[in-house]
Amino acid sequence: MSQCPVCKKPTDPEFKPFCSKRCADVDLGRWLTQSYSLPAKPALEEEEEAD
Ligand SMILES: [Zn+2]
Repeated sequence: MSQCPVCKKPTDPEFKPFCSKRCADVDLGRWLTQSYSLPAKPALEEEEEAD
């Protein structure tokens, strides 16, 4: 049986792999926060396109 990765309660099939929408939102928020905290890509990352 799976556990909610956020609070370790049993997973609710409706909110799999979480136990509730609240935990799904919490995990999503963490994921987004981690994404945003990654170093910004250097400007050189953009390919120079001829106009
Ligand atoms: Zn949970």
